[in-house]
Amino acid sequence: MSSQTPNTNKPTPPPNQPPTPGGNKPFKFNMGWIYMLILFMLAAIYFNREPETQSREISWSEFKTYSERDVFSKWLVNKEGSVIKATVKPEFAEEIMKADSAANKQVFKQNVETTILVEISNPDAARIYADELEKNGIKPDVKFGKGNSTFWNIIWQFGPFLLLIFVWIYIIRRMGGGNPFGVGKTKAQLYDKTGKSQKVTFQDVAGLSEAKQEVEEIVDFLKNPKKYTELGAKIPKGALLVGPPGTGKTLLAKAVAGEADVPFFSLSGSDFVEMFVGVGASRVRDLFRQAKEKAPCIVFIDEIDAVGRARGRNPGMGANDERENTLNQLLTEMDGFGSNSGVIILAATNRVDILDKALLRAGRFDRQINVDLPELPDRKEIFVVHLRNIKIDQSVDTEFLARQTPGFSGADIANVCNEAALIAARHDKENVQREDFMNAVDRIVGGLEKKSKVTTLEERRSIAIHEAGHATLSWMLEYANPLVKVTIVPRGKALGAAWYMPEERQITTRQQLEDEICATLGGRAAEELVIGCISTGAANDLERVTKQAYAMVLYYGMGREIPNLNYYDSSGQDYGFTKPYSDKTARLIDEEVKYIINNQYERAKQILSEHSSQHQQLADVLLDKEVIFSDDLEKIFGKRKWLSRSQEILKQQDLLNDENKDAEEKSD
Ligand code: ATP
Repeated sequence: MSSQTPNTNKPTPPPNQPPTPGGNKPFKFNMGWIYMLILFMLAAIYFNREPETQSREISWSEFKTYSERDVFSKWLVNKEGSVIKATVKPEFAEEIMKADSAANKQVFKQNVETTILVEISNPDAARIYADELEKNGIKPDVKFGKGNSTFWNIIWQFGPFLLLIFVWIYIIRRMGGGNPFGVGKTKAQLYDKTGKSQKVTFQDVAGLSEAKQEVEEIVDFLKNPKKYTELGAKIPKGALLVGPPGTGKTLLAKAVAGEADVPFFSLSGSDFVEMFVGVGASRVRDLFRQAKEKAPCIVFIDEIDAVGRARGRNPGMGANDERENTLNQLLTEMDGFGSNSGVIILAATNRVDILDKALLRAGRFDRQINVDLPELPDRKEIFVVHLRNIKIDQSVDTEFLARQTPGFSGADIANVCNEAALIAARHDKENVQREDFMNAVDRIVGGLEKKSKVTTLEERRSIAIHEAGHATLSWMLEYANPLVKVTIVPRGKALGAAWYMPEERQITTRQQLEDEICATLGGRAAEELVIGCISTGAANDLERVTKQAYAMVLYYGMGREIPNLNYYDSSGQDYGFTKPYSDKTARLIDEEVKYIINNQYERAKQILSEHSSQHQQLADVLLDKEVIFSDDLEKIFGKRKWLSRSQEILKQQDLLNDENKDAEEKSD
């Protein structure tokens, strides 16, 4: 038996770096230092403040009289020898203050240091008189002032002011990227032809064939402008990449940069936004000035919605002014450069609906390029790209993986590949296998498996009946999404889950929507029928169903009483607090939604009671195995009567191929 001992070797520092006890982090100035400096200044001012004193001026003869009575504890003679400031012993303070000839103008304060000031004409008088007194046995503590140092004088006078300037420069530098006078300068990063840091090519972008074609044309414009201008065509000014998050918009823009071989400015919409008024507009101006200098070139603005949001949405809320100024400047600049100047603006957003209409008009962004979620063939290609650097087992089939990941974006697929590799590494495998990919997909869709979550037998039975209800209905309903697997192992927040293969339909009919609602209600219906009492386990299903039913009535015009009406505004301008329908219609909408859901719930119960024994069988298998796949369902229910959409498409393709083969054979 072998035992493993933990590795206790400490990492040794690299040879050219002497080990330092505290690590040799480079000194970095930050806000913490500014706070320290301010605190230091305040403390210095506090401790250096003059204590409260009371003072009066007396003549030289008076001073001499008092001195002979040994009234003063110390003398301070100024540097020039023209003034003595003497501190009065506390027991004489009242007498001296009240002896003011100006009829007791001075108010005497107890327990406050008392001083007198004497002007002397001869600079040596103080010294001579002090010596004289010493001979008579009175020995005042005499100090001769050195005067204040000019350096400290300057520091005390200008210190706070200097500190303020220093703080200001520091803040501005942080915003302006180094130069205190560079706040209004663009933050765009420039990738020049010579730069090696970035080299994404179109080969790294899988799928997206239409989008790629459009941007390839832009690259071609920049490489051979003559070809187009000779025919009288104008080079487009800009293209807007629109699509859901993670679909590869940024990647596409980077590929344009890699392929075009022209300077590429890259920045994000939020880089224009700053708390100072006018900064955004000035950054836009600076960006276009630089771009024109470097033309032909490409400017890429990611997440353009940060500046391009429609103007005047929130009248009365002044906070938008700065953003609107920035947008106005952007609109002006995009109008300002000639279409043949060779500066092409690419921008990306996933909220095209909220962009200002002026930004979208032809002449600014001439083209809108849709970058949608990848369809099956595209997903396959994306898998191929991301599997390039992963050691995979022969069991891994990209076609299969693409089928398992409907609705996944390119970023999700990249994540699946990485997650699968991590899972394989965790199990010390030599290469990544098909099951690792399946686990990765499950993990991304359903969250982490929580086997440690404690459930009672009763709860597990309830979950099994619930999930078996979904599975039975999805098998029995023509348009329900085909089932892939069902589990009662808790994952993420869910206690059990059923995995479906969502149909990637282009249009959805009323019957399809109803079947989906019915299958989703299958869990709750099974609980009521079999256990006899319903549970909170269906909350998520009910939420989905309610949303779906409202969408049917409000957006798709599928209500019985209020058909063919749509209460959605696709321009993105919300109705605010007022609804576009009356209270009566609102009640009707609620009635319609209730009707749809109740109807489907009854239907679900009906189907389940018709197949109650099979449902029970399925629940038992599930309790036993914890995870079941569509093959297990087939064993219980027999072959599914209907083909799924993807099976239908495959069948059509096969038929087509057969026809083509026949035609070829005949022609031979
Ligand atoms: P967002 O709108 O959130 O900014 P995006 O559309 O700009 O997202 P990207 O940043 O381009 O998405 O994509 C993220 C990652 O997803 C990429 O780095 C890449 O690894 C992967 N990816 C996305 N689409 C593709 C694709 N078509 N081919 C290859 N990889 C892709």
